[in-house]
Amino acid sequence: MKFNRREALRAGLLTSLSIASSAVLPFAPGCRKRASGVERPNILWISLDTTRRDHLGCYGYELPTSPNIDALAAESRVYTQAISPSSWTLPAHASMFTGKFLASHGAQKDPEGPLVLTSVISGHKEYERYRARGISSEEVTLADLLKQAGYDTAGVVAGPWLKKAFGLGAGFDFYDDARIDSLDGRLAQSVTTSALAWLQQQQQSQNPFFLFLNYFDPHTPWTPEPLFLRPFTTPEITQGDPWLLEIAKYDGEILYMDVSIGMLLKQLKASGLYDNTMIIVTADHGELLGEHGLHGHGAYLTQEEIHIPFIVKEPRGEREPARLSTRVQLVDILPTICERLNLSLPPGVQGTSLENMAHPVIAEVYPYGFNSEDGDWQVIYDGDHKLAWNSKGSHKLFNLRTDPAENYNILEREPELAQSLMKKLKDYLGSLPKPPEIDQGDIQIDEETLRTLKSMGYVQ
Ligand SMILES: [Zn+2]
Repeated sequence: MKFNRREALRAGLLTSLSIASSAVLPFAPGCRKRASGVERPNILWISLDTTRRDHLGCYGYELPTSPNIDALAAESRVYTQAISPSSWTLPAHASMFTGKFLASHGAQKDPEGPLVLTSVISGHKEYERYRARGISSEEVTLADLLKQAGYDTAGVVAGPWLKKAFGLGAGFDFYDDARIDSLDGRLAQSVTTSALAWLQQQQQSQNPFFLFLNYFDPHTPWTPEPLFLRPFTTPEITQGDPWLLEIAKYDGEILYMDVSIGMLLKQLKASGLYDNTMIIVTADHGELLGEHGLHGHGAYLTQEEIHIPFIVKEPRGEREPARLSTRVQLVDILPTICERLNLSLPPGVQGTSLENMAHPVIAEVYPYGFNSEDGDWQVIYDGDHKLAWNSKGSHKLFNLRTDPAENYNILEREPELAQSLMKKLKDYLGSLPKPPEIDQGDIQIDEETLRTLKSMGYVQ
């Protein structure tokens, strides 16, 4: 019988689920008052990898993928027009942590880059082609800022591109990137367990916390436990078009992740930490599920890939729950937190606070040639319109109000509008500082990774 680690771990989840529902053991929260008497909020930021906005109940999905996220959203400010600055994991997370666009932080695939995926996960020989550059050690990250401000900082991550080697662990007191052994990533249950263990320990501290979590289950491959697949399958689906079953599996993975997030939120409530915690839930990007004849993410900037969920639960109900149609981006969280905590913004931040959006809404992706023959993409949003520039000349213009699915390219019908948006896009991107040159010595690599890189001949 073939042993499937993923199935086995999920079987474990079923046991812990029944335990979690019968007894939640609260931590003993310490006193968190500062000398001034002003209590600073804890910050929990959950990154839902590869999670489509329109597959969550709080964004109108009719199937039960997300009961726990929906309950959180009901108490939150839910942004309905949030756009990721890129369509894959590394640049999107680098934008979250630096408040800068890809053009400036530079963390992305790079055939000449110093980092190789096979240095952090085992896998096919093919993965050796996946090289990248991380963020520069000169960047000031959100974790750096919060640590300086007296927060205890921790990250628990599940996707391979979030391994320390790619530079995203900077500024965290504790950064758990263990158990990522393949492109499959780490299971949600394991992320929640590690997060709860850190929180329990952190309760001895007088400091508020910043906890960043990346859940990876909705990323392919989709292999949900039958319990999580069942709500999305009918005989027509299991016996019909195999692709419908794939979408059901994707939904099953979202539900599995949601249940693990629910366990975390339940524990925060039981421990009295929930009310004073700002909880941010966003995705790094979505997923194409056959639209435009495409699957996956990271090679285009379609709405399916970059129109993301974006939910902010305010600490102590400081702002009323609402649904907001302001276009916001992942680069805007860092400045928002700085504004709330009265921290000065590090130089060069391009995002602005959620309450005062003041930058063009753009996205970029530069896929490898072997991933896509369709070239690079940059987009800019303006009112109802989205202009896409393409390195191979297949530029597009869409009216998202009348054509939210991007089926009708109106570029030739609206040449003046297209030209003015193209200029706005190019002028803005041209105005952004380029990332600092990265050399080997500039990248934080843990010893084990360094040994592996050396053994493979990538580092002298
Ligand atoms: Zn991702």
